[in-house]
Amino acid sequence: MNIAQADLLLEMTKRTSEKRATQNETILRQHSSDESYHSPVLPDVVVYPSSAEEISSIMSFANENKIPVVPFGAGSSLEGHCIPVKGGISINFQEMNQILEIRPDDFLVKVQPGVTRTQLNLALKKHGLFFPVDPGADATIGGMAATNASGTTSVKYGIMRDQVRNLQVVLADGQVIQTGGLAAKSSAGYHLTGMFVGSEGTLGVFTEITLKVYGIPEAVLAARCTFPSVQSAVEAASGVLGSGTGIARIELVDERSIVQVNNNSDTSYTEAPTLFLEFHGNPASVTYEASLTKELLESFGGVEWVEERDSKARAKLWEARHHLAYAFKHGYPGKSMMFTDVCLPLSELSGAIVHARETMDAIGVPGAVLGHVGDGNFHAILMYDPIRPEEREKADKVNSSIVEYALNKGGTCTGEHGIGIGKAKYLAKEHADTLSIMSGIKKQLDPNDILNPGKIIV
Ligand SMILES: Cc1cc2nc3c(=O)[nH]c(=O)nc-3n(C[C@H](O)[C@H](O)[C@H](O)COP(=O)(O)OP(=O)(O)OC[C@H]3O[C@@H](n4cnc5c(N)ncnc54)[C@H](O)[C@@H]3O)c2cc1C
Repeated sequence: MNIAQADLLLEMTKRTSEKRATQNETILRQHSSDESYHSPVLPDVVVYPSSAEEISSIMSFANENKIPVVPFGAGSSLEGHCIPVKGGISINFQEMNQILEIRPDDFLVKVQPGVTRTQLNLALKKHGLFFPVDPGADATIGGMAATNASGTTSVKYGIMRDQVRNLQVVLADGQVIQTGGLAAKSSAGYHLTGMFVGSEGTLGVFTEITLKVYGIPEAVLAARCTFPSVQSAVEAASGVLGSGTGIARIELVDERSIVQVNNNSDTSYTEAPTLFLEFHGNPASVTYEASLTKELLESFGGVEWVEERDSKARAKLWEARHHLAYAFKHGYPGKSMMFTDVCLPLSELSGAIVHARETMDAIGVPGAVLGHVGDGNFHAILMYDPIRPEEREKADKVNSSIVEYALNKGGTCTGEHGIGIGKAKYLAKEHADTLSIMSGIKKQLDPNDILNPGKIIV
């Protein structure tokens, strides 16, 4: 970096209206890592801009002086996405957390990037609307768009890329562009919105995001069902998708993970592979779909079907799935968590999950296997002791084996967490033919490599 620390702070202070820039040690540390297992690196300064104009001014300065810029949302990403590996400026969006416009008749909402998904859903509720994408953490919409996040409801409503209608983006040189519009569809030119979604802060900084939203269903029914094996559970999930019931959520938690949940909460669930499901519709339709699904699951060996309609009881039923990562964190004090995700064609999913569990057991790494099985997406949580390098090596080995298996079966090295630092080594294998095109796009939009350098394409 060609600028002294004190001058950098002065410049950033000048470029934010309320002098919102700091080199406070604690704040630098808060912006040095995310929720991943990758080593932290301190930024040189953290700024809190309040408008696209301020970000544009920051970007122009950073570009002229070749200073790295790393956007920082809630910092919940899992592959080192927001670690400023080359130092520089960390942009925090907490001053840009306004819901700018709700258009109930168009099922659209425009937000600033620092709005979180629960904040958005609270505001939408008054209009009878909701936003379905639900990564486990209370992430920001900016971060979710930048990682192309998804979650338990993607099987019905789709992923972030399906929801983003328009982005206001500040480019590396400070130029401000709009990538889309308000229309539900468009055949006009290249799909730049789709390209920026999932770009992990490496192509531009999002300053406004227009999203598709949905009517809150009149009735919701949640259920869980246990199975004799992971294979039968995944086959049953495929059967449900094939039956055309329009399932809203279908999640798998494996037997070892249910044991961990029981050990860390007041539940005493049967310790067997379990599917968690949810139906959205009206009272008659959810009742009908649930009974049809129950019958179908039983034909695949499903037992112990439990269903809930009341919102508190539903939340309790989903706790086992939602609190799994924390059940492992509490169950293994002092250990770090490597959270990996892959996605495969559905026909290959049960083989991949069995392979993951067998590899964890063979190498001796404790952890969970859980998945958004309706999408062919699953996660492995791998626990290791950070002060014992041999444990970290074992976790790395399991992670590589899970990813290689997915790639060899036509899958992807990440279904939703993204590339960040951790998955960059697999991108060349997955996209051998197109990596040079991706590099070309990066060079065109960010010739000085200042936007989140060291991520995705390294
Ligand atoms: C317990 C747990 C469970 C999780 N489960 C899921 C899951 O089910 N599905 C899933 O998809 N993810 C999951 N995640 C990962 C994480 O929550 C998502 O990746 C989320 O989308 C990150 O949002 P964030 O606001 O925390 O972004 P951050 O982590 O702050 O940033 C993520 C990336 O986005 C970039 N970025 C942030 N804001 C902007 C902006 N305004 N403009 C441009 N780039 C920006 C950053 O530079 C970084 O590269 C989970 C995480 C945890 C801890």
